[in-house]
Amino acid sequence: MRPIQATIDLDALRHNLAVVRRHAPRSNVMAVIKANGYGHGLLRVAEGLKDADGFAVLNIEEAIALRQAGYTQTILLLEGLFSEDEVPIATHYALSPVIHRFDQIHMLAAAAPALPDHVFLKINTGMNRLGFTPAAFTEAYASLKTIDGIRDITLMTHFATADEPVGISDALSVFKRLTDAIDAPKSIANSASVLRHLETHLDWVRPGIMLYGATPVSGTPADTYGLRPVMTLSSEVIAIQTLQAGESAGYGMRFTAEQPTRIGIVACGYADGYPRHAPNGTPILVAGKVAHTVGRVSMDMLFVDLTGIPEADVGSPVELWGNQVPVDAVAESSGTVGYELLCALAPRVPVKVVG
Ligand SMILES: *Cc1c(COP(=O)(O)O)cnc(C)c1O
Repeated sequence: MRPIQATIDLDALRHNLAVVRRHAPRSNVMAVIKANGYGHGLLRVAEGLKDADGFAVLNIEEAIALRQAGYTQTILLLEGLFSEDEVPIATHYALSPVIHRFDQIHMLAAAAPALPDHVFLKINTGMNRLGFTPAAFTEAYASLKTIDGIRDITLMTHFATADEPVGISDALSVFKRLTDAIDAPKSIANSASVLRHLETHLDWVRPGIMLYGATPVSGTPADTYGLRPVMTLSSEVIAIQTLQAGESAGYGMRFTAEQPTRIGIVACGYADGYPRHAPNGTPILVAGKVAHTVGRVSMDMLFVDLTGIPEADVGSPVELWGNQVPVDAVAESSGTVGYELLCALAPRVPVKVVG
């Protein structure tokens, strides 16, 4: 069998959920498991996070899969209902859609009173992605309130800069100005806000990336927050090449040896989810030692410089990311974020669950 494997550690998920609870002890936790549980597998992560108070997903199909697997907690549909035929499905499965456009309010009004009990009304506080503008919010809230069948309306927003030095104070003031006088549950914090902005925790926090043990804040490693990586992507060296000075490796000959150099060929490429943009020098663990990649990542393989690891040979274990090589380090080297690498784990990679 091709030696690549992703290992998903459910203990690490439980540990990271406990970190969320330690930071936000008075808040309900809506575990964000969109994008197939950030690439880890929807039902797999739901199992590890079964003590969460709610789950957030995008598709109604994912929500149904969670209900069919027996989960009874709140399930938030982050992009809301896409069409009116989803209203009775959301009602049947007791899902909680985000309401972010007036036509979604009209869909609910038309189906009343057979409606989901609990919806989340989203305010656009400056990110300009989803949600009612401050000017439209009052009308949206008032019309939602008059619809028979809706019992709870949680007010929510999402910050554009919770992970940035500028912080969230402007957007938070907008949210507070609109909602302070309203006695309703509130939800505004993603992972970065859970970790950095205590004043945002309120009734529901919505952590995603931190649950998977990657950092929401570029430049601050996840272990600074006591988070543990959930996914380890591992493989093996499947061939060795010895280059003479002046010889090159891989497509485009992007790496040329300056002296005799042993190169390991690793069974992992961009079709497995490894970033093709990873430059020479991206960290990688071979036989327990930190090494670095060289040459262009191909579809199925990549190259590692084995200088300083003479014991490395065919069959040597390789960690692409995980406990020793943080996914965020590979991401930073490749000009992206851990989120993207985790979500991009390819379906062809066999997954083993531990913990
Ligand atoms: C994805 C998402 C989150 C989780 O964000 P992280 O940065 O992964 O913690 C929270 N809220 C909303 C609305 C989201 O779309």
